[in-house]
Amino acid sequence: MDANFKSEHFFTDTEKLSQEEIESSGKNIPPMNDSNSTTNKFLKIPYELRKTKINYNIEKNIFKKFLLKLKNDSQFMRSTVQTAFLLLCIWIGIEFYLFMKWGMSNGQASFFERPPGVEGFLPISALISLKYWIESGIINNIHPSGLFIFIAILTTGILLKKSFCGWLCPVGTISEALWMLGKKIFGKNLTVNRWLDYPLRSLKYLLLLFFAISIWQMDVPTMNLFINSPYNKVADIKMYLFFANITTFALWTIIILMLFSLFIKNFWCRYLCPYGALLGALSWLSPTKIKRNKSTCIDCELCTKSCPSNIKVHRVNKVWSDECMNCLACVEACPVKNTLDIRTTLTNTKIPNYIFGILIVFVFVAITGLAMLTDNWQNKISKEEYLKRMNELDTPVYQHNRGQVPEYGPND
Ligand code: SF4
Ligand code: SF4
Repeated sequence: MDANFKSEHFFTDTEKLSQEEIESSGKNIPPMNDSNSTTNKFLKIPYELRKTKINYNIEKNIFKKFLLKLKNDSQFMRSTVQTAFLLLCIWIGIEFYLFMKWGMSNGQASFFERPPGVEGFLPISALISLKYWIESGIINNIHPSGLFIFIAILTTGILLKKSFCGWLCPVGTISEALWMLGKKIFGKNLTVNRWLDYPLRSLKYLLLLFFAISIWQMDVPTMNLFINSPYNKVADIKMYLFFANITTFALWTIIILMLFSLFIKNFWCRYLCPYGALLGALSWLSPTKIKRNKSTCIDCELCTKSCPSNIKVHRVNKVWSDECMNCLACVEACPVKNTLDIRTTLTNTKIPNYIFGILIVFVFVAITGLAMLTDNWQNKISKEEYLKRMNELDTPVYQHNRGQVPEYGPND
C-alpha cells in the first residue's frame, strides 16, 4: 500500500479521537466523565500502539472498497464468507428439491442431478465412512462427498480451531443471526449462569460420546453392511422427507430451539451440537490460538464484551476454551496494536486476520476440490436405481429399526 493511499484512507490524528469517533467504531465505551472509564484507558494508549481506523467511504470504486473492507475488517470478511456458504447450502437445497420432485413424480418431471453436497448433512454416515476408510483403506462410493466434507471440517478443526462453526456452518450463521435479532428486539441477550451453563455445555459431548461409542463398536464387515444398506443409500432422501413431511413434534422442537436462540447466543451450537463438540475437542490440538499480550493490554475488556462465546478473553494469555470459534470478533474489538491476535502456538507468529479467513476457505475448498478431482464426489448410484428406490421407500428395508439397520438381501 503506498503512502498516499494510506494517508487518504486512514485517520491519522488518532491522538485526538473524539468520544463520538470512538463510539462510531461500534465499541460500547462508557462516557468520558467516568475517571476510570474505558475511554480514559483508551486515550492513554501510546500513539504508536493505537489501531488506525480506516475510512472506507473515501474509496469510490465499489469493488476496491469491497476488497479493502475484506482485507481490513475481519468481521466483514467473516459475514461475507458466512453469507456465501449459506447461499451455497440454499442452492444445494433447491437442487435437491428439484431432484426429489423428479424422483417422486416417478420420473415424469424434468430430471435434475442430485447435488453431492447434500451429503454434508449426513454426519453419522460420514463418521462411519471415515472409520471404514481408515480401517479398510476403501473410500465408499455411496456417500463419498459426505466423507470428504467431513474430512474438510475435521481438518479445519485440527488446524484452525472451531473456525468452521464461526465462519462456514450454515446452522452457526442462522444461530448468530437469531441472537443478533434477539438483541435488536429485546436490547440484550441472556447469559446463562455458570452453574447451569457447564452442565448444559456437556450435553453436546454426551451426544457425541453416544455416537462415537456406537460407531467405535462397529467392525469392518458391519460398517460395510451399513454403508451398502438400502437405508444408507437413501439417507439423504429420508432426511428430505423428514423436513418435507415434518411432524408437529419435530416442528415445535425446531421452533422452540429457534426461540431459545433469540435469547441465548448460539444456543444450539453451545449446548446441543455434537459436531461442535467434536470440533471443540479437536481445537485443543490446533496450532492456532487467540493470544493476548499482557504487557500492552489496557484491560478495557472490549474483547470480552465482544465475544459471542462469553469467554473472559481479557483474563487469559491464550484462549484455550473449546467454545472459541476463532471468529476474531475480540481481535477486531481490541483497540491496541499487537495486543490481541491470532498466532501460532509454537512460533508465536501473528496470522493477519484476512489470511486466517482465506486459510479457512482454502482448506475447505482444497479438500472438497480434491474429492472432485479424484472422482470421489459423485456417488455411483444410478438414476434408474434412485427411481426404483424412491418407489419402495415404505418397505421394511428402508425403515430404521431401533437403531439397527434392517436385514437386506443381494437384490435389495
Ligand atoms: S475468544 Fe475471540 S475468537 Fe474466540 S469466540 Fe470469543 S471473540 Fe471469537
Ligand atoms: S486484549 Fe482485551 S482487554 Fe486488553 S486491550 Fe485488547 S480488548 Fe482491551
